[in-house]
Amino acid sequence: MPWSQRSLVDKIRSLSGVLLLFLFVVIVYSFFQLRAIDAEMREVANVDIPLSQQMDQLALIQLHQHLLMEMTRRQLEHVEQQHKKGQLLNELESYSQRLVDSAAATQRIIQQGLADGDIVDKMVEHRRALKAIEQIESLHETYEQTLLSVFQQARLLNESEWQQLEALDSQLDEQVETVVLQLQQLTTEIAHYAEKHERQFLLINTLLGVTALLVGLLLTAHIIRSFRAAIGALHQQLDSIRNAFRQTPLPEHSWLKPEDELQQLQQNLKTLSESLSKELINRDQAEQELVELATKDALTGVYNRNKWNDLLKTEISLATADNNLAVLIIDVDHFKQINDQFGHDVGDKALIVLAQKIEQLLNRDGLLFRLGGEEFAVLTRTNSAPDLRLLAERIRQNVAELQVDNVPPMTVSIGVTYLREQDTAKSFVKRADNLLYQAKQAGRNRVLIE
Ligand code: GH3
Ligand code: MG
Ligand code: MG
Repeated sequence: MPWSQRSLVDKIRSLSGVLLLFLFVVIVYSFFQLRAIDAEMREVANVDIPLSQQMDQLALIQLHQHLLMEMTRRQLEHVEQQHKKGQLLNELESYSQRLVDSAAATQRIIQQGLADGDIVDKMVEHRRALKAIEQIESLHETYEQTLLSVFQQARLLNESEWQQLEALDSQLDEQVETVVLQLQQLTTEIAHYAEKHERQFLLINTLLGVTALLVGLLLTAHIIRSFRAAIGALHQQLDSIRNAFRQTPLPEHSWLKPEDELQQLQQNLKTLSESLSKELINRDQAEQELVELATKDALTGVYNRNKWNDLLKTEISLATADNNLAVLIIDVDHFKQINDQFGHDVGDKALIVLAQKIEQLLNRDGLLFRLGGEEFAVLTRTNSAPDLRLLAERIRQNVAELQVDNVPPMTVSIGVTYLREQDTAKSFVKRADNLLYQAKQAGRNRVLIE
């Protein structure tokens, strides 16, 4: 997937991965590099420094050898100095001891270094140095023997014998020189290596560190930028949601714009959720009102014709032999005259008062509907014909006796009937209508029941 299309979490995860990988490389590199440097340092400490000491020692021993040769030459030239033979022997012994000790020490250092793994580089050269030291030892042995025999004979050496001794001397001298040079080379090289590695380590670690820092900064910057973009988008969405609720506009001061975007987002979300819940409550109320409008009569507040159409069928379907349905169709007598005489408003008031009165008399035992104009209907459940007649009569009588300020007296005619087995909604209501008509014909203000 292209980078730009990846999710924020994905991007952050990838960048963090790169950063961690970098840090891992730095750590692994440092670990191995430090191990190498540590090994070199050990080599320097355990091998090279002691070897350098032995090199100095060997150089001193060479001087000692020169001195010994000089003394030997003098003594052999001047026979009168024969008494100094003891001193020469001492000198030879001391010289030999030093040389043998130093050679042995040098060998030990190298052998120990090889055995302990302290010597990592140039193993072949180190072994070659060991061989060269062995040669010193064997040359020295010959040299020592020769000198001893010369001292014992206590006579002047002829020219060729002297040259032979000198040749042996210079051979030994050269061999020591060779070993010193070899050791010097080895010790300076390793010191040089260690130094070079340290420099390299420092340089590469600095580079890796700087790169990791840059990746880290990039990651941080990217996270911040992405968050800002996401928060910006969220703000836009919030704004559009807010605009969608124009019916209940939010007070402008509640739409804060503080410095911190997250704080701002949090604040705005809170405001929005508050307004959303208000809006939901409002909508609930509006819905409730719509339902009322659809089912209730605006003037009297009782059920309207729509509800009548709905409920009539339901009530008929629920009717049983034990709990039958009855209907009362109630019409105000000469209502037109009330309107004509007192005005439409008084007529309205009269309708309201009438509806209230009937509701009160029903006392929840029936449902009251305004079918239109000054015509009402009651649906009630009863199997008792006397009770039904009593109810209708009570309504008629109470209306006739109504005394309300600014409402003229009025009467009603009522047609009442039970639901019969073969009835449809239409035939059921029609029968009640006919009875109402007959009641009107018979002089009004009366109940007809069938
Ligand atoms: P009857 O005894 O035969 O029923 O005579 P009536 O005058 O009551 O009957 P009619 O049907 O001739 O008249 C009904 C009147 O009711 C006519 C109309 O102006 C009036 N009316 C219908 N609806 C309203 C209303 O909402 N308010 C008022 N004030 N009058 C209404
Ligand atoms: Mg009427
Ligand atoms: Mg009428």
